[in-house]
Amino acid sequence: MVEIIRSFRALEHGEQQEEIACPLCGSTSDRLILKARDLLFGRPGEYRLAQCLSCNLKYVNPRPTRQALNRHYPDRYYEISIQDNAPSFIQPFIRAFSDGISKRRVAYLERVIGRIAPETEVLDVGCGTNLLLSYIKRARGCQGLGLDFNRMVVQYVRDQLKMPIVHGTLQTADFQAARFDLVTMMEYLEHEADPRAVLQKARLITRMNGHLALELPDSLGLPARILRSLWWNLDLPRHLVFFTPDTLRRILDECGFELLTVKRFTLPLYIGLSLGQVFGQRHWAKNWRWVPVLSTLLGAPFLPFQIALPEFIFAIARAK
Ligand SMILES: [Zn+2]
Repeated sequence: MVEIIRSFRALEHGEQQEEIACPLCGSTSDRLILKARDLLFGRPGEYRLAQCLSCNLKYVNPRPTRQALNRHYPDRYYEISIQDNAPSFIQPFIRAFSDGISKRRVAYLERVIGRIAPETEVLDVGCGTNLLLSYIKRARGCQGLGLDFNRMVVQYVRDQLKMPIVHGTLQTADFQAARFDLVTMMEYLEHEADPRAVLQKARLITRMNGHLALELPDSLGLPARILRSLWWNLDLPRHLVFFTPDTLRRILDECGFELLTVKRFTLPLYIGLSLGQVFGQRHWAKNWRWVPVLSTLLGAPFLPFQIALPEFIFAIARAK
């Protein structure tokens, strides 16, 4: 449980917020790293990213309460992730891009855990539109199970993709202990208000020596450090917590996982999204159809340097 020190109404926009103790070590001493606004939906409010003085974890503090947080995930947040909603002329590019992402994730995974077999029991937590599991099914013949709390994507995966998915979260879903060989959380854990509770539940449903794969924003990368409040992957206040390999190792260890590897990487043209913000973009969701075009134009000159611009970390841990 993350300790809540006090709840209050934010002066600027009346949002119900809570001040918290560090979600990793419980310390109540932190320092301000930066202040930032929501640049995806352009909603009012300024948020504070803090760093724990005791364990170095970075987290949003104060943050919207669990209920207030729902308003930061409007249906539009999910609509833009459904490929079929994009203009038809760019759909093949989006498809190729998404497949590239999944292919890379599977390659990282298999280098550590070996080839995914058709009978491997996989759960993708926060599966969204099931990009990863669709790819694993096509490439490895393995029928994974998705889990997501948004009704719209659950319906999409069930009706359009005809793939199995559970509606809810790890806390509400009723999975049997030690059921899964592999649990994946791609760009998920940073959205969770209580990452420890999520990882403990993940451990419970993973078999001994099974694996957990996490993809998270890389808050130590050059883009994060230089662009600060204009860094695309900051995404406050939806991203509530930022792990480094050190803080990740600690929380995983405390939840019954051994961290095996951490890889840092970026995606082609991804830096273009942050650069759009540097050049004044303040409400991405409104101009979503132009996002691929804009990020391509702005990101292309940086393609030769992308190895120096990591945006994500990909971590693999083993259940101990
Ligand atoms: Zn701490």
